[in-house]
Amino acid sequence: MLGIQSRREFLASTAVGIAAAAARDIPHPMRPRPLPPPPPPPSRWAAKPVVVSSANGLRAVQRAFDLLMQGADSLDAVIEGVKIQELDPNDDSVGYGGLPNADGVVQLDASCMHGPTKRAGAVGALEGIKTPSEVAKLVLKYTNHIFLVGEGAKRFALQYGFKEEDLLTEHAREVWLRWRANLNPDDDYLDVPEGEHMSVRPTGTINCDAVTPQGDISSVTTTSGLAFKIPGRVGDSPIIGAGEYTDNEIGAAGSTGRGESNIKVCGGFLTVEHMRRGMKPTDACLETLKRVAKLTEPRLLDERGRPKFDLKFYAVNKRGEFGAASFVPGRFAVHDGTAAKLMDTAYLYERAASR
Ligand code: ASP
Repeated sequence: MLGIQSRREFLASTAVGIAAAAARDIPHPMRPRPLPPPPPPPSRWAAKPVVVSSANGLRAVQRAFDLLMQGADSLDAVIEGVKIQELDPNDDSVGYGGLPNADGVVQLDASCMHGPTKRAGAVGALEGIKTPSEVAKLVLKYTNHIFLVGEGAKRFALQYGFKEEDLLTEHAREVWLRWRANLNPDDDYLDVPEGEHMSVRPTGTINCDAVTPQGDISSVTTTSGLAFKIPGRVGDSPIIGAGEYTDNEIGAAGSTGRGESNIKVCGGFLTVEHMRRGMKPTDACLETLKRVAKLTEPRLLDERGRPKFDLKFYAVNKRGEFGAASFVPGRFAVHDGTAAKLMDTAYLYERAASR
């Protein structure tokens, strides 16, 4: 048996060895990178390269696919893709400009997995940093951990050269102030007059999954989470196995929508497991949604037993086949080598549940 001292030394040397190997595999996001070798010619492709994303990711799939065709690593490609959304102040569901929590503070969540190196990284309730997906990638690449949250995650990001910035845009602040004003008729905030009620999408996220011509796979999910959430709440997006999951031998899957319902079924992982048992990506996504419906408590079901919330799954497999599914008809983004486009999801119910 290893003594305490020697066990520590053993673990330390293993950790250093693993970190050093990973550092060689994935280029550092903060430094200019050498150009990757070009991908093999199509006659030698192991997979049909593909990138899928939630419907807000049309620009993401285009960018990620372009990078794949230049020989980029699958994780680098999907992170560069979702960063477009994170940095866009007009997307109020992700990164900079995301809607804040109940205290008016923007807290961001992200996770990612890199199939070839079998590594994962995540951050939760991260404040002041516009691109949590990049911070999750640094956790993946440079630490012996998987998940950093809150203040520690922010300090970690600052140490790697990220700048702390105010993430609350004027639009997001106004939406939050109106929400607070209308929350309770008995508090000291006067209600916003009739007709001036805000209309916001309370949730939103981007998931992106890619397969390279060599058959390597990665996934990332990033979000500002549920608008006006209880401070400190994290959803499914930063949870490896829920918000996204990759197994380089099988495929990848990710999710957007009501995080609490996804966490209970470990939906990213479950969808990949369905594909491991032979299901196509679309069927795997549908099967996971059925499990979600079964595990939903009565208060969230309508009188016909249909979930009253939105949840979608997206998946790719090792061959480059892809699919997505939702409870009711929806859309997702894909670049399958022809063009970046929106496609219809498969779905379980024709119409939305009555609320
Ligand atoms: N899944 C995200 C969360 O629960 C929100 C969303 O996708 O709309 O934080």
